[in-house]
Amino acid sequence: MSGTSDGGFNVGDMGCVREHQRPHLRFKALRSGAVAATRTLIDARPRQLTDPQRREAFTTWATKMSDLYRVDVPVISWVPRLHADNGFYGLYSSESARIFLDPMRPSIITLAHEYRHHLQSNGARLVCDDIEHDAQGWSMSLHYSAHPQLFARLVRAGQVAFIDPAALRRITGETPP
Ligand SMILES: [Zn+2]
Repeated sequence: MSGTSDGGFNVGDMGCVREHQRPHLRFKALRSGAVAATRTLIDARPRQLTDPQRREAFTTWATKMSDLYRVDVPVISWVPRLHADNGFYGLYSSESARIFLDPMRPSIITLAHEYRHHLQSNGARLVCDDIEHDAQGWSMSLHYSAHPQLFARLVRAGQVAFIDPAALRRITGETPP
């Protein structure tokens, strides 16, 4: 779709395949303020909040990040059945600077992935030519930097798209459960 980027499961081209196996290590120099804001959001346990509290927490995160990166704050729209009807949990529209998320699966990694597309549309330099690899790497590196143990738990539970649990075990030396 022109001007939009899915947060679903299409890997796209494999031009950055080596990095693709370790997307959570792709960004080495994330801003400490971005990592801190993400840790604050993780610690708020969004999935245990009420819908209005969660929306506020996600918007607060986006506002802090936009302050840090000096871009306009994107609007976050919560779309029931986004995944059921379209097959992805997040979407970014550069035309309207709007992030779409599915309230059935309010994922911080998905939020960060779509937010990275917002930064891309505001001129962020890509680490790979592929905008999806860049967004996957940024969002996972941010989450991993903010809370490495939780990130590893989510991967083991199969809750992180784009990353193969076997690849993480190779990276961390963990043995399969
Ligand atoms: Zn994307």
